[in-house]
Amino acid sequence: MPSGVLMGQLQKDMVRRHILASSGAMLFTLLFIASSLLAPDKAPPAAVILSALCYWGGQALLLYWVASGRSRHYPDPGMTPLFMIWAVAFISLTFYFCHEYRTLALLGYLMVMPYGVFRLTWRGFLGVALFAIASYTGVLLLLRHEGKLVWSLAYELLVGGAFFASMLAYSILGREVSLLRAAYRNKNHELRRALARIEDLAVTDELTGLHNRRHLLTHIDKHRALANREGMPFVLAFVDIDHFKQINDQHGHRVGDQVLAELAAVLRLSIREVDLAARYGGEEFVLLFSGLTLGSAAKVLDRIRVEVMEQRFSRSALPLTVSVGVAQYFPGEEGDDLLNRADRLLYEAKRLGRNRVILDSQEPGVLQNVT
Ligand code: GH3
Ligand code: MG
Ligand code: MG
Repeated sequence: MPSGVLMGQLQKDMVRRHILASSGAMLFTLLFIASSLLAPDKAPPAAVILSALCYWGGQALLLYWVASGRSRHYPDPGMTPLFMIWAVAFISLTFYFCHEYRTLALLGYLMVMPYGVFRLTWRGFLGVALFAIASYTGVLLLLRHEGKLVWSLAYELLVGGAFFASMLAYSILGREVSLLRAAYRNKNHELRRALARIEDLAVTDELTGLHNRRHLLTHIDKHRALANREGMPFVLAFVDIDHFKQINDQHGHRVGDQVLAELAAVLRLSIREVDLAARYGGEEFVLLFSGLTLGSAAKVLDRIRVEVMEQRFSRSALPLTVSVGVAQYFPGEEGDDLLNRADRLLYEAKRLGRNRVILDSQEPGVLQNVT
């Protein structure tokens, strides 16, 4: 979904295009008025003025519809087919009033068609072309019926044939452009998907599906900015598997990998959506608790510790424990310093016997192993 700013720009482009096209329509209207005055069989001025006013009234309404953004929910917010059909109807009307100068109308149709080449689907384009042919033929038959036109079948067939051929040529061109646009859109779509995938891979740890260290560091920076600017607290915890090497040694690397992936799932499911779980490296994970202070984060972490202890991992149903070091961000502190503090607390947890959560001593409370 395009953002408001982008939509505004798209809308401006559409309006600019329509205004440019309107200048052509203005020239055509002037030629129509001139030919109505010059034609031997003069058209009633009231009818000429009324049809010009009617066309421009409709054109202004369509422009307003696009410019005000009211058309933005339609498949084509630029309303190109409607603009074209409205112009074709006007041209057919000018043909009716100035049939002696019908070349003007025929050139008018040709003037309208390129307008849709880049914007319409092939079907839409064909629809407008058929409408032009049908309305031209309709006016021709009406003029003949009213006895205003001296009918020369050979001439009509030649002119009609040339007109039809040019509409066909435009339709073929329209189809080519429409196919090119579809191919371009597909390529664009593919590229966007590939880019999203690459972006995803760049921030994801392959084995566990958690965020990787690179993403964690960016996330810490964002939270530091928030904390420094708005005073929003956050807490960082290092979670390290106890004696993980033994699992690898006794059960193999594959089981070790499975344990890592399962532990990652436990961590991911234990935190809120605003928090972040990342694999820092090896069997070390980092959790970042957004908007929490040390005390409340410690409760969550101890729950995680107990949950890990009670769960069995991999197909070999292995028991597992984790040690955790927890530090709350001090405003103004560097990200590395915060990570180092949490890491030191983790080693403190290891030194004290593992399977425990150790909080920063600068904050009250040291949560010990509850078993
Ligand atoms: P401690 O309780 O002190 O943390 O002991 P530990 O054995 O968990 O720690 P140590 O740092 O001695 O060993 C970590 C092991 O983690 C060593 C390494 O082979 C293993 N490891 C690191 N990355 C991976 C991985 O991606 N897959 C597997 N299966 N093992 C890994
Ligand atoms: Mg370990
Ligand atoms: Mg380790």
